[in-house]
Amino acid sequence: MGAGPAGLAAARILSEHSVSVDVFDQYPRAGGQYWRHAKNEPFPAESFKTTLTSSRLNWLFECSIWQIESEKSGHTIYAIQNGRTIERTYDALLIATGAIERPLPIPGWTLPGVMTAGALQSLIKGQGLIPGERIVVAGSGPFLFPVIESLQKSIQQSSSSNPSSDIRIVGIFEARKLSRWLLNSVGLLLNPEKVIDAMRFLINLKREKLRVTTGRVITSIKDTNSKNVKRISVMPLKGEKVSNNPTGQELDCDVIAISYGFTPDLTIPSILKLKTVNKEDDEIVMVDSNQRSSKLGVWAAGEITGIGGHEIAIREGEIAALDILGKGGSLTSAIRKIDRWRKQIFATGLARVYKVSKRWFEWNADDVVVCRCEEVSRDEIINSFRELGADSVRTSKLFTRAGMGMCQGRLCHRNVQDIARVFGSESTKISRPIGGAVTLGELSD
Ligand SMILES: Cc1cc2nc3c(=O)[nH]c(=O)nc-3n(C[C@H](O)[C@H](O)[C@H](O)COP(=O)(O)OP(=O)(O)OC[C@H]3O[C@@H](n4cnc5c(N)ncnc54)[C@H](O)[C@@H]3O)c2cc1C
Repeated sequence: MGAGPAGLAAARILSEHSVSVDVFDQYPRAGGQYWRHAKNEPFPAESFKTTLTSSRLNWLFECSIWQIESEKSGHTIYAIQNGRTIERTYDALLIATGAIERPLPIPGWTLPGVMTAGALQSLIKGQGLIPGERIVVAGSGPFLFPVIESLQKSIQQSSSSNPSSDIRIVGIFEARKLSRWLLNSVGLLLNPEKVIDAMRFLINLKREKLRVTTGRVITSIKDTNSKNVKRISVMPLKGEKVSNNPTGQELDCDVIAISYGFTPDLTIPSILKLKTVNKEDDEIVMVDSNQRSSKLGVWAAGEITGIGGHEIAIREGEIAALDILGKGGSLTSAIRKIDRWRKQIFATGLARVYKVSKRWFEWNADDVVVCRCEEVSRDEIINSFRELGADSVRTSKLFTRAGMGMCQGRLCHRNVQDIARVFGSESTKISRPIGGAVTLGELSD
């Protein structure tokens, strides 16, 4: 399930060993988030090109899994494709459904022109489109780097095809200070190639005369009298708190791309009631060294087992596939496990460097919408804990409807979880009996 780096890596090994595999993905083509590409572009990863044409692989694109039933005879997947439910039973399942991007609610984040950094990335990569002329990239974490790089590349292409074009990045704001990289010293020692990547990125920025302002967060976004122009307030972040010293700054722009990293998408694992554990404040699927989950015949790989980037996702997909083939104890698997370990040390260090403050909701005195689908504000959620007796994300949801809208909490759950951790209990497990929008007709069938 999932044709991103983890799912594709597993499919490649399984197909090379003559196993027939169905690959489900809700997108129209393979690649997941990392290798997202436009319809007319070639697949971005050369080493997977033969996998995509393997006769052993049956691709089920634009096919969204909404339910799975496990019985002695196997695991039955229910997925919707072109409005029809497909029902198929399997001996072995690999869940590789990735992560969801995490924006933090800021007053004004629902205005047009404000989007997640991933949305900007996908407009650039998927549609070849830059949605404005004065762009701000903000938030926290290493994901801002590739977004800025794609943006720079796209701006260069646009100005070479249209010399009068004047699209610019007007600000880059990273919440965490560069000095926090000391928290990842061991990770850097074990992964020297990452130092080279970072240097390449910084040199590139310098060449383009761009600067990352660290230790700053956007605390509000307001409409101005000019069409499409937004005014943002940027304030220094000291520890976990926004400070007035030095005073902040204001900046005008028409696109604001914000990201505070990713959180594992536990929709499918929660349907299967897989055991989860807490890692750096994120709930992740619990797996053993061979990527086996707590349920027999179900493996999990990639970002649902911890945020770490596409390289770890590939290794995990390979390790899971080898175990499915009964080669979990082989030398090939052992070599991949050592490489996974090395990369995981780096990823865990990164999570420490760019840890999102649990008290982000105190950065601004203004009330802010947290659940966009049901328009539930921060103060309503806090009130559900303080005044109404809510003690978990779930009970707060029953009082406020936060997480009950179209996206079923995919966007707000992680943020409500932080509020619950401060005002309620730590019991914040995700539970979703149905993994997507289905019609009553499909359900009754
Ligand atoms: C929005 C976003 C943008 C990113 N951009 C970059 C980038 O530019 N550079 C970078 O280095 N890293 C980027 N990352 C991180 C990188 O994509 C991941 O490290 C890597 O892709 C993880 O691989 P994966 O296989 O675990 O998951 P993914 O690549 O996320 O693949 C998961 C796949 O599962 C499918 N899926 C999920 N649920 C279902 C369902 N119910 N039914 C059917 N299919 C389903 C999805 O459609 C997706 O194709 C991005 C991540 C996100 C979330």
